[in-house]
Amino acid sequence: MTTLAADLARLAGQDALREGGDYLHDSTEMQGLAGHADAVVAPPDVAALQAVVAWCYERGIALVPRGGGTGFAGGAVPLGGVVVSLERLDRVRSLEPEFWRVHLEAGVTTGRLQKLARDSGLYFPPDPGASAQSHVGGNLACNAGGPHSFKYGVTREWVTGLEAVIAGGRLVRFGGATRKDVAAYDLRSVLCGSEGTLGFITAAWLKLIPLPEAQVALVASYGTAAAGIAALRRVYGHGLRAAVLEYLDAGAVAASAAAFPGGIPAATRFLVVTEADGTAAEAAALAAGLAEALGEGALRVDTLDTAAGRRDLWRWRSGVSFAVRGVRGGKMSEDVAVPFDRLEDALVLGEEAGRQAGLPTCSWGHAGDGNLHATFLIDAGDPDQVARAARAAETLFAGVIELGGTVTGEHGLGLVKREQLARQLGPEEMRLMLAVKAAFDPKNLFNPGKKVVAP
Ligand SMILES: Cc1cc2nc3c(=O)[nH]c(=O)nc-3n(C[C@H](O)[C@H](O)[C@H](O)COP(=O)(O)OP(=O)(O)OC[C@H]3O[C@@H](n4cnc5c(N)ncnc54)[C@H](O)[C@@H]3O)c2cc1C
Repeated sequence: MTTLAADLARLAGQDALREGGDYLHDSTEMQGLAGHADAVVAPPDVAALQAVVAWCYERGIALVPRGGGTGFAGGAVPLGGVVVSLERLDRVRSLEPEFWRVHLEAGVTTGRLQKLARDSGLYFPPDPGASAQSHVGGNLACNAGGPHSFKYGVTREWVTGLEAVIAGGRLVRFGGATRKDVAAYDLRSVLCGSEGTLGFITAAWLKLIPLPEAQVALVASYGTAAAGIAALRRVYGHGLRAAVLEYLDAGAVAASAAAFPGGIPAATRFLVVTEADGTAAEAAALAAGLAEALGEGALRVDTLDTAAGRRDLWRWRSGVSFAVRGVRGGKMSEDVAVPFDRLEDALVLGEEAGRQAGLPTCSWGHAGDGNLHATFLIDAGDPDQVARAARAAETLFAGVIELGGTVTGEHGLGLVKREQLARQLGPEEMRLMLAVKAAFDPKNLFNPGKKVVAP
């Protein structure tokens, strides 16, 4: 055992030490990214985490917070230092269904939180795709979104309080169970989306809502992207408050159609998935409105109003990313977002960037939020293809910034997009970002080299 490991074992317990292995990468492994660490530790509780952070911070040792390791930005990929996994901070401190709230630790998985809520007749709407593995702490650190963010917003909007371990191992708390609180600067929101660069989120107080009585999904197939995009615009134009508004382009349809429950028309080149929820009467009325808006120019519109039908649909939807990856064995997937009215421009931009790089492309994503998973298909073992995909991504980023959009709508900057922030922000905004980082982390030891780096 190294001296460092021996010290960490003394601080957090012998059983807190972990082998590097899986802790050295996240979902960017699909594009061949892996890091290196001097040690990996999983503290059993907040007090042990504080001890580890205090000890490392004092000695100038970098700390890399790790949740479920599902991130798509390389945020949890270590560039040396100590990886600190939050997997053992998994206690539900209180669940109070009668007050629609839960107070839990960062290492609880997203799927467990969703089930806890459901079993109490409640609902936690943020639904990033890898819910069995991702942690609530990781969702908070990335301010994760998902299909239902269209109606219900991203993770931050469900947080009333956060607890965190900051520089020197000190414990801080912003907010709590109170639903409205405007007393202070909103450091809760600063920590949400901070990607482990300001400290460790250890616990959160989250809002829940009563589970909608009914949820009805609709799937509309189109022969062209233009017909599908016109349908998406009609949903907005008709003022239909859908819970989700997703799309798949021709390439994403081709990769995933075989697994689509019940099949889709062979001529489908664009697919729209939407959902109506509310009381049974509300959901039925909204579903009828959506069917009408989507019907014009569609090859087919299917309505799925049984729990089994919806379950199969969402199971298929969460496999789309893997089906696309399967086409060539690897992929570089971006998560750019643009104002909704520029969605079509962004789709064309992604295709054009791929064409210039000589790589097959496709995209799918959260159309209602203008959030695209523009994807370049690669063999991750081929450095030339990886380099060409990186160039295509650069072209895409420049284009979406011109469209008034962002280089990341949900996965964060992490390691892979850290240079992009200075392109998207002006020098004054960038100065403030660096000042926030320095205020929380004067020694630059929390996940250094990620998210906010000096240009
Ligand atoms: C199949 C698939 C589908 C996905 N779909 C979506 C989607 O729809 N929407 C979406 O937003 N994302 C999606 N993602 C990306 C990913 O699941 C989310 O970003 C998720 O929130 C990451 O959580 P994690 O626990 O796995 O974090 P990790 O990957 O472990 O870490 C992510 C970042 O957060 C930091 N971090 C983790 N925990 C803490 C903590 N407790 N305190 C401080 N910093 C911390 C890490 O340092 C790192 O920078 C998907 C991923 C996969 C594989």
